[in-house]
Amino acid sequence: MDGATSGAGAVSGGGAGAAPGSQQDTRDPDGRTPSGAGNEESPRRRCATMPVHHRLMAESLEYRQARARIENLTRTFLAQGDATRFPGVAHIPVVVHVVHNTDAQDISDDQVLSQIDVLNRDFRATNPDVSLVPPAFAPLIADSRIEFSLATTDPAGEPTTGITRTRTHKTSFSFDDDVKRTSAGGVDPWPTDRYLNMWVCRLSGGLLGYAQFPGGPADTDGVVVTHSAFGTTGTAAPPFHLGRTATHEVGHYLNLFHIWGDDDSGCGGSDEVDDTPNQGGENTGVPVFPHVTCGNGPNGDLFYDYMDYSDDEVLVMFTHGQAARMEGCLDTVRSSLVQAAPSTPPDPAVAHGGTEQPAAAAGVPSQREQRAPAARR
Ligand SMILES: [Zn+2]
Repeated sequence: MDGATSGAGAVSGGGAGAAPGSQQDTRDPDGRTPSGAGNEESPRRRCATMPVHHRLMAESLEYRQARARIENLTRTFLAQGDATRFPGVAHIPVVVHVVHNTDAQDISDDQVLSQIDVLNRDFRATNPDVSLVPPAFAPLIADSRIEFSLATTDPAGEPTTGITRTRTHKTSFSFDDDVKRTSAGGVDPWPTDRYLNMWVCRLSGGLLGYAQFPGGPADTDGVVVTHSAFGTTGTAAPPFHLGRTATHEVGHYLNLFHIWGDDDSGCGGSDEVDDTPNQGGENTGVPVFPHVTCGNGPNGDLFYDYMDYSDDEVLVMFTHGQAARMEGCLDTVRSSLVQAAPSTPPDPAVAHGGTEQPAAAAGVPSQREQRAPAARR
């Protein structure tokens, strides 16, 4: 979306049309009025990334400065165009922290692996359901060239499954980051500059998940997803049973805003991405094409996009502009995450680009630096 407030030059760091500290206290995870909050059975998608962002903007000068710096880095990166784009695939090691109060919440390895599989399909645009996208939007579908694998080496250098399991006394968690703290009934992250930390627990209030944008505190960096919206098997429950909550939250983690620009139903907010249609508010459930808002006809909202609020069965694509923005994140503030190649045997898709470095030990910092100069030749 390229709303009326975009293109204003150097930004304050809020992005998405939000003022620092606004809307942080009384609004629920959707940034809306509390009505309906607490309805655990609500089928409506709920993500608390923006409330967390607003809280950090209000509390932390360091975060405000980091967000402004990152947004400007991103704009510089995007302004350089394709010249800066690397030819290969970025590989990100993941640790999944399963934090459970009941046996059911102690989700299986298979459920975790099913989520990793979804991330890999969605970020490579190899998900079969991308065929849902109507021809009018098909040219926007992007392969983000990012892949994920469970870490095979832990922070101490020991072999690991990339899954930790922690029993908690807490019956549920909110978006206050307690799940990220051993002292609060959760579990501390692995080094967040080397691993994408994903916590899976029971979130309260119908909340599906939340992420921390790049630039936030290191000790709470990562993604949280409620167990019933994680993966495609086990406790994953419709309509959020296809793993798209994690895809959405990892999008935030890689610096994507909601596609409607987080200005409620207005047409002035921006997601700072040029090729997404300007859109009024979020779409929920299973929308019918076309859904025209903000004069964006005839094709209307891109409610197929992972950064909208549609049900899992509808969220099937990132755009080229979003992929470029995520790449800008991985080339700058999150460059230490990126491995040249996974430490596990690659599937055929990993051969894409043909410029992979030899496999590095899991957890070894980025070799993206080695690749980027080659890409500029
Ligand atoms: Zn979100």
